[in-house]
Amino acid sequence: MTILLFCSLSLFAGTMADRYWLMRAGESDNRNDRFSDRMKALMSIGFGQKRLLYEPGAGWMHVGIFAGFLVVSLRTITLLGRGYDPHFNLPFFDGPLGLIYAVVKDSFALIILLALIFALYRRLFVKPERLHLSGEANFIIIWIASLIASDLLGDAAALRLNPASHEHGFAWLSTLLSGMFASSETDQVQIWSNVMFWFHNIAVLAFLNFLPFGKHFHVLTALPAVFLRRLTPGGVLEKMEFEGRESFGVGKIEDFSWRRILDMYTCTECGRCTEMCPAYVTGKPLSPRSIIVNERDQAYHLADHLTAVGKLKGAGKTAVASTLIEGQDRPALIGEVNDEEAIWACTTCGYCQTHCPVMIDHIPNIVDQRRHLVMMEAKVPGILQNALKGLENNSNPWNVAAAGREDWIGDLEVPRMRDKGQADYLLFVGCAGSYDSRNVDVMKALCQLLNEAGVDYAVLGTEEGCCGDPARRVGHEYLFQMQAPQNITTFQKYKVGKVVTACPHCFNMIANEYPDFGLENVDVIHHSELLSELVDQGKLKLKGGEKTKVTFHDSCYLGRHNDIYEAPRKVLSGIGGIEQVEMDRNRREGFCCGAGGGRMFMEEDIGTRINHNRIDEAANTGADEVCTACPFCLTMLGDAIKETDRSEKLRARDIAEVMLENLE
Ligand code: SF4
Ligand code: SF4
Repeated sequence: MTILLFCSLSLFAGTMADRYWLMRAGESDNRNDRFSDRMKALMSIGFGQKRLLYEPGAGWMHVGIFAGFLVVSLRTITLLGRGYDPHFNLPFFDGPLGLIYAVVKDSFALIILLALIFALYRRLFVKPERLHLSGEANFIIIWIASLIASDLLGDAAALRLNPASHEHGFAWLSTLLSGMFASSETDQVQIWSNVMFWFHNIAVLAFLNFLPFGKHFHVLTALPAVFLRRLTPGGVLEKMEFEGRESFGVGKIEDFSWRRILDMYTCTECGRCTEMCPAYVTGKPLSPRSIIVNERDQAYHLADHLTAVGKLKGAGKTAVASTLIEGQDRPALIGEVNDEEAIWACTTCGYCQTHCPVMIDHIPNIVDQRRHLVMMEAKVPGILQNALKGLENNSNPWNVAAAGREDWIGDLEVPRMRDKGQADYLLFVGCAGSYDSRNVDVMKALCQLLNEAGVDYAVLGTEEGCCGDPARRVGHEYLFQMQAPQNITTFQKYKVGKVVTACPHCFNMIANEYPDFGLENVDVIHHSELLSELVDQGKLKLKGGEKTKVTFHDSCYLGRHNDIYEAPRKVLSGIGGIEQVEMDRNRREGFCCGAGGGRMFMEEDIGTRINHNRIDEAANTGADEVCTACPFCLTMLGDAIKETDRSEKLRARDIAEVMLENLE
């Protein structure tokens, strides 16, 4: 046992050291904060397996295997101890606790075996599209089953050899199996017991050494990855520091932070991220799973090189390490490991991140590579260049004169901050609400509702600039960091305490990302929430209108990224005559319109159009109207209606427009 433990544990320690030093080759990332929030996440998402509980079938199967692993790991320690003392037990397990454990352990052993049979059946016969069906995964399933079976059979033989054991009946499954040895000679049973004992221990230690080489590394890294997760809402990008840096974004594996490298180790290749990725589903060359898996392969390639050179150990991210890495002949991260088109195809919708059971963050990974393309290589897809020029020159992606930012108001009664000095709410209009004719209608409807309800609000007019979302999402962090402080300074000038906006992208930016740039003590509310409150307070009264069937489309930046699903639905449900119907993909499962992540300002010429996919689904509900609460979604769905010749049967409107029409 000593030889076995020494060999296997030293081999394992060597592999883990390589993995550790590879992470050290990555950039720094502070995850030492908010210990109690991290513990909560560890308990609910890690140990509680919250994200898998959403998914009956495969999700629950995994929960069964995970819980079983936790339970039988105590047994594994016991069996290793019995290599030294055949009567070894864990402390306190000699008495009643040990007997209770025997019942629980045998029950979980059965659960694991059933779950493994289900897993193998799915892989061999059902073959779900999202799974990467590899022989390795099947082999691992059989390997784990053999660990459990050898423990049960070894235990059964031991019970047969020792009829006076207290565990008879408590280790109920082993007791049942011990019947197999009823007619066997004692010597034969002893041989069974010994063979199963050594088989189990060798297989466990071999399994441990196999883990860091494949997708099952997550068995070891998933809980640390969950503990070290990002604690901000899903759509938030981290602030990039420019001071003292020569390169920006990620153009090589070692430009990723150590935490992103931990993501690569932790991917289970389950494909949940890819299953409903709008880019993948509509035939773009982007698969969020492949992004992570390809990067992992490249990272291991780098690790092999570093180990071979043998100088990185102890060096971490040093000049020596960087020189060694630089000299390595390897495929380019962007262009060879990851398709450049894939990096641009992401709409930052967040489906992947919210469905990844081990909290892998795809969006920052992809945006970091865009940052490299834009800021280091000046590579920007053609049409996007115009949008960036517009943002730079006129603070809007349509490149319309900044001086015309409040032209949309016309004769409408809309107070300006410069006239009022202060107001309860700053209405942040956003670029779409200011310049895009369809969304100007929405903004006008919203202002009429606010006027009707007597809300004390004002707009910034020509003092407002783009919130920075398009620049930031496409990777032009430098431009974004020029824009954001200007808005923040204006907010501070007017002592703004509350901001309301009809754009989920502006909402996400001001609420979640501006605080990193000095915005403090400002409450941000989406117009759907404010309108819902005004109805509750009786300040807006809705009447019954024409009988209409309406389906609501969730904006990714309102729903998945900020967890606001019910407010817009509540607004619609207050209108008599409206029958709400849901699309199959709604709320957390909502399907993107295709405009996020700066895609609104890029061509979509590969595969089918994302907005067409979504409008087909909306039309299939039989709805007369698809409602949104986002200017980008409204534009995309409106375009899709026209392009698919549905203008006669279906229309797209914002909830503010529907409310205004049905105001008492
Ligand atoms: S954020 Fe959306 S579009 Fe981007 S990779 Fe994830 S699922 Fe695909
Ligand atoms: S990134 Fe997450 S969801 Fe995607 S394959 Fe890996 S573990 Fe599964």
